[in-house]
Amino acid sequence: MEECVFCKIARKEIKADIAEESDNFIAFLDIHPKAEGHTLIIPKEHFVNLMDLPSDFASEMHDVIKNIAEKRLKEGAEGFNLISNNFAAAGQVVMHAHVHILPRKKGDGLSMIV
Ligand code: 5GP
Ligand code: ZN
Repeated sequence: MEECVFCKIARKEIKADIAEESDNFIAFLDIHPKAEGHTLIIPKEHFVNLMDLPSDFASEMHDVIKNIAEKRLKEGAEGFNLISNNFAAAGQVVMHAHVHILPRKKGDGLSMIV
């Protein structure tokens, strides 16, 4: 747990470009952005993935997602993908629950699985 990089970001022990913070969530820019404004939203408490995240967190997480998406759309994004990799087989690298908000523009050349 102490080694979890996202726990360290949540505890402000590692610097991150924080976009928004609520009681239980923190949103910050991805260190290797796939697009401008690529943002990660994480619970401050350590959960391995969305399967472990208590359901009563869902509404607060949804509000943070919408706030970030609104910001990115105002900044010029024309759309966004909401992506969550859960378990290694699905490409999860950081084992602390998170969702990606990936701002999109027509013809940006990014490809998604679905
Ligand atoms: P996933 O686990 O969903 O594959 O992706 C984890 C994401 O976390 C990656 O896009 C990666 O760039 C990002 N990431 C990993 N370590 C750090 C870090 O220390 N700071 C920030 N801001 N992002 C990170
Ligand atoms: Zn963690």
